[in-house]
Amino acid sequence: MESLFHPAMDILKELEKAGYEAYIVGGAVRDHVLQRSIHDVDIATSAPSLVIKQLFPKTIDVAIKHGTVIVRHLGQSFEVTQFKGSSLLEDLKFRDFTMNAMAFSNKREIIDPYCGVQDIEKQLVRAVKSAKNRFVEDPLRMLRAIRFVSNLSFSIEEQTLEEIKNCGNQICNVAIERIAVELEKIWLGKSVEKAFDIFFETKILTYIEQLTPVQMALSDRKIVTALKKLTDATEVWTLLLFASKQQEASNFLLQWKLSNKLIAEVELILSRLMPILKQGFNLEDYYYFGLETCKKAERVRAAFLDEEADLIGIEVAYKQLPIKERKDLALKGNDVALWLQKEDPKSKIGQLIAIAEKAVVTKKVENEKSAIINLLRREGFIDAK
Ligand code: ATP
Ligand code: MG
Repeated sequence: MESLFHPAMDILKELEKAGYEAYIVGGAVRDHVLQRSIHDVDIATSAPSLVIKQLFPKTIDVAIKHGTVIVRHLGQSFEVTQFKGSSLLEDLKFRDFTMNAMAFSNKREIIDPYCGVQDIEKQLVRAVKSAKNRFVEDPLRMLRAIRFVSNLSFSIEEQTLEEIKNCGNQICNVAIERIAVELEKIWLGKSVEKAFDIFFETKILTYIEQLTPVQMALSDRKIVTALKKLTDATEVWTLLLFASKQQEASNFLLQWKLSNKLIAEVELILSRLMPILKQGFNLEDYYYFGLETCKKAERVRAAFLDEEADLIGIEVAYKQLPIKERKDLALKGNDVALWLQKEDPKSKIGQLIAIAEKAVVTKKVENEKSAIINLLRREGFIDAK
């Protein structure tokens, strides 16, 4: 933690020197108390964003209207935000859970108005003051609570849990992108089974209409065991879709506003998962997936069958491919261009290269120029000149 806390302390000192209050707040303080590694440090200050920009040489505007500026210092980024409300205590009041409503001063004191340290010791997620009010203000907080259960293996304090049951139906008012971020963290948390207990108890997932196509997987207890074997969001979405017998996933994935890269990867794996489950990976899978996507597909395959993933096997097989990328192909676009007829469209070059590529990958022909040309001739793709 020290690597991030030290430069953050410099920022606190600088703001204080200019006559403002400043504290490290939120997740970094929680993770410091938990002695977990800290990945980002947020700072709250009485200084307005314009002042923050004047005080530090390197700043980036992120959400000026919320008073947030990124300060770059010693190669790291720090989100510096003006207090919401008139003071630190007001600011902390707007936060979600007691463990996230603590501040850390330049003098290394913890300011903890809602007994967050005590709740951390008891391993409890407890809403700041009224759980009902917190969840009505921002229903996403209910999923954040379950996310901390999954990541930290905490329990949810009784009243807070009760209000998740009461307010669960409001989750549908939250932007889908925000829901996706929290769900992905829940599914990949080390205590995902505890999170699922709360899903079942509160029924909160049933209020997320966009999950309907994967409800079959989500209501199956075995899915929890499978999720524990997965390592990233692509794998999780693929498994949920496959286990729910959804072959056509593009509308679903678009609705979740996932990144284009993730959507393409999920669709690619999904399109081949059934044959892979039956017969294993073939040469084209290794080549067209690429090594990283192959490993993801293998993790999903193994998780679905409740087996151990054989990543070494994947690496060995991948290494044995005759070519790894199109640029390794002995036949080049220029070579093909020579064989084209006047009336042939330009796109024919790409088509012929793709045919050659597939023939080499499946070991129908050596990766050698004349051998490939002979094959293309023999099969009638180019004229036998
Ligand atoms: P992580 O370790 O995943 O970053 P975090 O608690 O730091 O967890 P962030 O989204 O980085 O989560 O938020 C930083 C802090 O901002 C939180 O600790 C909390 O104090 C506050 N916060 C974030 N989201 C909310 C919310 N929806 N409602 C209230 N407070 C929030
Ligand atoms: Mg954070």
